Amino acid sequence: MSLEAKISQLKVLLGQIEREFSPAAFATSFGAEDMVLLDLIAREFSGIQVFTLDTGRLPKETLALMEVSLVRYGKPFHVFKPRPEAVENYVNTLGANAFYESIENRKACCHIRKVEPLGRALTDRRAWLTGLRREQAASRAALAHQENDATHGLIKFNPLLDWTNDDVWTYIRANDVPYNALHDRGYPSIGCEPCTRAVKAGEDPRAGRWWWESEAGKKECGLHVDETKAAAIPQYSNISIKVTL
Ligand code: SF4
Repeated sequence: MSLEAKISQLKVLLGQIEREFSPAAFATSFGAEDMVLLDLIAREFSGIQVFTLDTGRLPKETLALMEVSLVRYGKPFHVFKPRPEAVENYVNTLGANAFYESIENRKACCHIRKVEPLGRALTDRRAWLTGLRREQAASRAALAHQENDATHGLIKFNPLLDWTNDDVWTYIRANDVPYNALHDRGYPSIGCEPCTRAVKAGEDPRAGRWWWESEAGKKECGLHVDETKAAAIPQYSNISIKVTL
């Protein structure tokens, strides 16, 4: 399918989500895929809200892109931060960088700084959107365009699931979309500063995330787990939204 056709279908889907799943919210981490969605949502689908999770450990390049995006699009986005007392407890008990010491410590940090704030961000929403793509990781290969997010009790849309890396960058360049400066320095996937590094040519796109861990295919922070597939979406089964991406 051509990129033009993918963009057309994406617009149809975003329009349906805006009309039929309000309030819907787009979760952006300001990665390349998310900038494609932000560009479209800010310009044409203003009924879809936008939020981001500021973990307190983001690289300065990501923070700079937040500012640039605000100026460029003029669309306010909600910023959710971890609960200060939870961060304080973690740092005082385990140490600020205890995530290097064990997967357990790493997941605890991700829970405090990402998972718990995500739960607050999704409260009272009917749907949320992500920029996940199948190509990004083996753990994302089986994702569906539309999923029942049982954890948060709403529908999750992954509208860029079938987009290729080339699709994303062709869109960005054709539309002069701002992007994270780290992408030009070998970072295909960008998370928190202490947990992300550049990858070498030919390496898995997510090899730079939690690189000290050896659990191949499981490098997720807990934001995208516990979902059953699109086949069962009982609470919205009367809505005939058709995902054809
Ligand atoms: S990516 Fe690293 S710093 Fe960020 S929340 Fe997870 S463990 Fe903590």
